[in-house]
Amino acid sequence: TTDFGIKEALATLGLKDINEGTSTGSDNFSNGELIESYSPVDGKLIGKVKSTTKEDYEKVMEAATSAFKTWRTMPAPLRGEIVRQFGDKLREKKEALGKLVSYEMGKSYQEGLGEVQEMIDICDFAVGLSRQLHGLTMHSERPGHRMYEQYHPLGVVGIISAFNFPVAVWAWNTALAWICGDVCVWKPSEKTPMCGVACQNIAAEVFAANDLPEGICCLINGDYRVGEFMSKDTRIPLISATGSTRMGKIVAKEVAGRLGKTLLELGGNNAIIVTPDADIKMTVIGAVFGAVGTAGQRCTSTRRLIIHDSIYDKVKDAVVAAYGQLRIGNPLDENNHVGPIIDKDAVKGYEAALEKVVAEGGKIIVEGGVLSGEGYESGCYVKPAIAEADNSFEIVQHETFAPVLYLLKYSGDVTNALDVQNGVAQGLSSAIMTNNLREAEHFLSVQGSDCGIANVNIGTSGAEIGGAFGGEKDTGGGRESGSDAWKIYMRRQTNTINYTTELPLAQGIKFDL
Ligand code: NAD
Repeated sequence: TTDFGIKEALATLGLKDINEGTSTGSDNFSNGELIESYSPVDGKLIGKVKSTTKEDYEKVMEAATSAFKTWRTMPAPLRGEIVRQFGDKLREKKEALGKLVSYEMGKSYQEGLGEVQEMIDICDFAVGLSRQLHGLTMHSERPGHRMYEQYHPLGVVGIISAFNFPVAVWAWNTALAWICGDVCVWKPSEKTPMCGVACQNIAAEVFAANDLPEGICCLINGDYRVGEFMSKDTRIPLISATGSTRMGKIVAKEVAGRLGKTLLELGGNNAIIVTPDADIKMTVIGAVFGAVGTAGQRCTSTRRLIIHDSIYDKVKDAVVAAYGQLRIGNPLDENNHVGPIIDKDAVKGYEAALEKVVAEGGKIIVEGGVLSGEGYESGCYVKPAIAEADNSFEIVQHETFAPVLYLLKYSGDVTNALDVQNGVAQGLSSAIMTNNLREAEHFLSVQGSDCGIANVNIGTSGAEIGGAFGGEKDTGGGRESGSDAWKIYMRRQTNTINYTTELPLAQGIKFDL
């Protein structure tokens, strides 16, 4: 079959009418114009989703704020039990959801499954965490007093997400926010609205089965204008926004203007430093997967290889040879390595980047190009390209969300490579390939990588949920997922209790009446 089981997957996810229908889930609240979702895989219409009007949005916020009153009083471990059930539901629907992610976004089916696995993993993490939302106790300076701090839920958390991780980013946020006692309103990317409805359907089943209000988990649809409903809304204390730096700067300003909190996960410009002591075989695997995986559309995709001049030709030849092996085509066909990029605008951005690097003096060593003909009808399949360039080029400084890799050369010691690696505005992911302990430790030291993620002997892409995820500088500074990232979803309260019959003041201040 040429369908790769898509129809069946859509039915499993409660998305009934392929090619003409509307969705369920968001229908509860939506009356706006239809968003049509076309697959970059074959160019076909997958379905239509209604966008959220301002009136619809008000209803969503009513449902959310009212649900919060119930949800916040439920003990955290019991909220964890709901998240456990949600994780189980995801296990049941993993193949169907992974397939939809692949079909609507264009990443390989394996990566689609990987994304759903991340959702399951964060649910497991959140279940454990639901018994560990620890505060601290402190020693009071006053006799007969006790001091401690505790964490309370924030309220409604607004989630704005990007097209490239159409389901996992939502789960990273929502699984933690839920166990923290918050309710969530999610606006997925307008480029992947079906994934949003599919997730909403799965979550809604769990809430209904437990007699809990669906307002704990709300979905709104539309473009930046619908996102703005949330960034401007004083009822939303935290906006978690994932996407471009351009978007992040607008949202940050809007939310800061009303003194709300933001968790920003923005663009990257990630590099791997390849030193003379690198294992070349590992370097090639890490670099090629990092650069062409998800067709170069991960925030952690490898954009720059910073190679020592003594091994430059050897690494270059090995990477170029590996590119020769890449099979480009339908991402649902597991024989292919590289699928399409998201849409024709992205294709234009890719073509413009290749023109620009040449105009700035770069040299293309693996030719790019847009593929046409059988299997490439969507017009979104492009050849992964490599250019030799300089870090000072404007285009190298810029994140092009496509499979374009820049080779940069350094000489001398690792500090020179670090100057190049840190010499960009973004600060998400970084890596060094070396067997030299001194180089590795220098890279991880205070003088080393300035990124939120710094890896040794693995590539830049593919993080695990157990660590806090995010980056510095133009990447926005937010951290989500593991470690203590949960704290941003809660408000901290410091409590002092006096169990004496006296009222001593702090700092020994006397106030006799
Ligand atoms: P985008 O910025 O175009 O859109 C992201 C989301 O923001 C969408 O839902 C969009 O509707 C919304 N949005 C845009 N303008 C808005 C505004 N003014 N107010 C409110 N909402 C607004 O990004 P994209 O093309 O979907 O995704 C690609 C980008 O996302 C890349 O830069 C990539 O690096 C970044 N990204 C970062 C991370 C991370 O964790 N750091 C993860 C995934 C993607």
